[in-house]
Amino acid sequence: MDSGLSQRVAQVEERIERACRRAGRRREEVTLVAVTKTFPAEAILEAHALGLRHFGENYVQEFEQKYPAVRHLEGAKFHLIGHLQSNKSRRAGEIFDVIQTVDSEKLARRLDALGRPLEVMIEVKLSPEETKAGCAPEEVEALAEAIRALPNLRLTGLMTMPPWSEDPEQSRPYFRRLRELAERLGLSGLSMGMSHDLEAAIEEGATVVRVGTALFGERRRA
Ligand SMILES: *Cc1c(COP(=O)(O)O)cnc(C)c1O
Repeated sequence: MDSGLSQRVAQVEERIERACRRAGRRREEVTLVAVTKTFPAEAILEAHALGLRHFGENYVQEFEQKYPAVRHLEGAKFHLIGHLQSNKSRRAGEIFDVIQTVDSEKLARRLDALGRPLEVMIEVKLSPEETKAGCAPEEVEALAEAIRALPNLRLTGLMTMPPWSEDPEQSRPYFRRLRELAERLGLSGLSMGMSHDLEAAIEEGATVVRVGTALFGERRRA
């Protein structure tokens, strides 16, 4: 029974390597996070068996269902990449290793209060679309300072999601702005780039790319 995943992992790997080469970067500088939202726990197990170690999920409740089946996977790291409501922060802090979507001091304090070491990133909202979560660019510095003062949180970088466009070049200015913002704040981690625009993201300095469709195929529900 071959789902085709191993071939798609190889294709994505090839794209990442080529983009790194073009940008004069080393492959080890870029972490591939496999985005498994809407796919069952088996997708995580299969990807792990193929050597993937980082997994991204958007919803606390959805990952809670899969967690018992995947929690013991050797070396696996689970990233929350969807918006986190304060009332779900306790559970999120228990089942995720990395929260990429911290966007307020209130949320940061709640996560810190859990008393468990957590790696976090600040989600930055670089476009004015009403629906998008994230910290306003002009507020990122204050939030970074607040997080750095919290003993259980380790701030590793910034994350963003540009407005959707078929053309990956449309994402590039957003990637560039995120990198400039991170440089000003002395942060080295940049989570940016998805299935359709990971090359542009890597060229602009991404250290984490979040890839779903190119690995697992089209999602059936949103
Ligand atoms: C779903 C999702 C991804 C993956 O998108 P693909 O286009 O399927 O690669 C990446 N980041 C976030 C925040 C997502 O919600």
